[in-house]
Amino acid sequence: MPETRIDQLPAAIAALPADERALAERLFDVIATEGTIVPPPEMTPWLERTFGSVEATLRQRIVRVTNRWTFEGATFNSLRARRPGSGTTHAAPAADPPELRERIERSQGDDFCDPEHRTPADSFGRIRGRHVVTAANVAKAEGWHSVGVFDRHDPLALDLALVEDVLAVAGEWAGQVREADAEARHFFLLWNCLWRAGASLVHGHTQMTLSPQSAHARVELWRAAAERYHAETGSDYFADLATVHRALGLAAGGDDKVELFASLTPVKEREVIALVPTYQDGAMDAVELAALAEPLAATLRAALGELGVRAFNIAVFGPPLGQPEPRWRGFPLVARFVDRGNPLSPTSDIAALELFGTSVVASDPFDVARTLQGALADTKSEEATEEE
Ligand SMILES: [Zn+2]
Repeated sequence: MPETRIDQLPAAIAALPADERALAERLFDVIATEGTIVPPPEMTPWLERTFGSVEATLRQRIVRVTNRWTFEGATFNSLRARRPGSGTTHAAPAADPPELRERIERSQGDDFCDPEHRTPADSFGRIRGRHVVTAANVAKAEGWHSVGVFDRHDPLALDLALVEDVLAVAGEWAGQVREADAEARHFFLLWNCLWRAGASLVHGHTQMTLSPQSAHARVELWRAAAERYHAETGSDYFADLATVHRALGLAAGGDDKVELFASLTPVKEREVIALVPTYQDGAMDAVELAALAEPLAATLRAALGELGVRAFNIAVFGPPLGQPEPRWRGFPLVARFVDRGNPLSPTSDIAALELFGTSVVASDPFDVARTLQGALADTKSEEATEEE
């Protein structure tokens, strides 16, 4: 079977079995357009050099996907990755560029290299895991906002054991916070890797927030979209979202516990989403975070390995901790990963279209999914070795 590409999405949806095609059309609006250019002859050598051929640029296929419920959207045009200075990640580097290695090494000895003496604790102290220790955030974005500092400086030295500890420590931290403040119910974990992804310190770290009353704005957007979807169609939004991605060949693994797929409406390059149902409908228990370790570790393995990603963002969130709430029914535990491009590029990957319009994406979700499938199998065997 030939490998599907994102510019063939309209045909791929049309070829689905009727039920899945109906779901895809209910969830997504897909528009394919063509753009043409008329270059002067003087541009020919540059176009050939930059884009591989002049023909590739004369008629360009652009596919725009919009989620009809969340209104998240992405415009795909693979040519944009080849623009000079695009800052797009290049696949499968044999090694990190020396300049990147040097910048990471040069920042050795930062505050997170000595968290016990150079970071504040929370009012209840610190959570100490096998690889991660917590600190209170000095400049908070939420009443409860802390940092999980890794036991290694290098933010790219990542493996399954570290990811497991990131989630375990975050869960314990949330439990401690809730003993001090039962109103704090909405958990959010954020992971910014390298300056290009917004990290102010190079040293590997994650952050956690716990909010009262409501979740962060974009989490509430997903919740409201799922609620509206259920009210109007009678179906489960997240289950249908996973079904459509799986039917199109965008998922990896796919057992009844975890849905892992490359998103059709990535917020930027190579977004991967993991969904895990919670034990109780409308609530989560912090220990359930552990279920995200394997899919997240597999995503990082694919990203840092074959896909060549170095700067990335991750978010983890779910329904509120504690008592189930009807308005959160059907909401799973979620992890979102996105590639932020070349950390050595001087051009930002986020511009006016991303902030105010529709994200422009150069990478192909079908390529991401294929890489993810191999990485998930490798991660499962790493876990088996760990357990021996
Ligand atoms: Zn450090």
